[in-house]
Amino acid sequence: MTFAATILTLYPEMFPGPLGHSLAGRALREGLWRFEAVQIRDFAADRHRSVDDTPAGGGAGMVMRADVVASALDSVAAAGRPVLAMTPRGAPLTQARVRDLAAGPGAVILCGRFEGIDERLFEARAIEPVSIGDYVLSGGEMAALTLLDACIRLIPGVMGAASSGMDESFETGLLEYPQYTRPVEWEGRTIPEVLRSGDHARIAAWRKQMAETDTRLRRPDLWERHEGARVKPPSGAR
Ligand code: SAM
Repeated sequence: MTFAATILTLYPEMFPGPLGHSLAGRALREGLWRFEAVQIRDFAADRHRSVDDTPAGGGAGMVMRADVVASALDSVAAAGRPVLAMTPRGAPLTQARVRDLAAGPGAVILCGRFEGIDERLFEARAIEPVSIGDYVLSGGEMAALTLLDACIRLIPGVMGAASSGMDESFETGLLEYPQYTRPVEWEGRTIPEVLRSGDHARIAAWRKQMAETDTRLRRPDLWERHEGARVKPPSGAR
C-alpha cells in the first residue's frame, strides 16, 4: 500500500518542497508515498477566481469561503483516508497520531491561508482539525509539510529496519536520551564513560535515567503524563 497525500492549497507549487529531498525524497522516488497538490482557486465560481471574503462581524483580514473550499474537497476521492485541516485551533499533533496516519492509506490535507476557513466547512464535512503547535504560521502549507515529514519517515521501508524510530522522543512518552558521536573529546568535553564501556545493560540503564531526567526538567507536562500513566491503578481498583 502506498501512502497517498492529497493537499488542498492555494500554493500547490510548495509541494513536495523539502519533502523532495533526503529520506522523504528518496522514498517518493521509490514510490513509498505519493502526493497530489490541488489548487483550491480552480474551484472558485466567479471570474475573479476569488476564494476569500471579509470576516462576518468585522475585523482584520480575509476568510476562506466554505463553498469554494468544499467544492475543492468534494472533488477529491478520499478513499478511506482521513481529511485533516491544518489550523492552530486544532488538536495538537502527537507522535501517536502520526504513527496511526503512517500505518494507514494516507491523508487529505487542507491548508488554510488568511484568517482561516469559514467554520461552517468544519460543521458540514468530516474534518479533523490539527495544529502543529501553539504559534501562528502564515499558512497551512508548512504545517502540512511538517505533518507529512513526520508520517513519511514512519512508513514501512522508509527508514532502515535497524531504526524503527521506537526509541525516539515521545514514542515511550519521554524525550529521547542525549546522543554523542566521535571525536571522544571535543573542546575539553568527553563522551560519558558509560557509552564507551561496551556494557549494554549499563548503557541502557544510563539512557533510561537520562531520558527521565531530561523529560522531567525540560518537559514537566510530558513527565506528569508519563508518571500519571505509570502510577494509574488497574481499572476496577478502588
Ligand atoms: N486567524 C487564525 C487563528 O488565529 O487561529 C490563524 C490563521 S493563520 C494566519 C493561516 C493558516 O495558517 C491557518 O488557516 C492554518 O491553515 C495555518 N496555521 C497557522 N498556524 C498553524 C498551526 N499552529 N498549526 C497548523 N496550521 C496552522
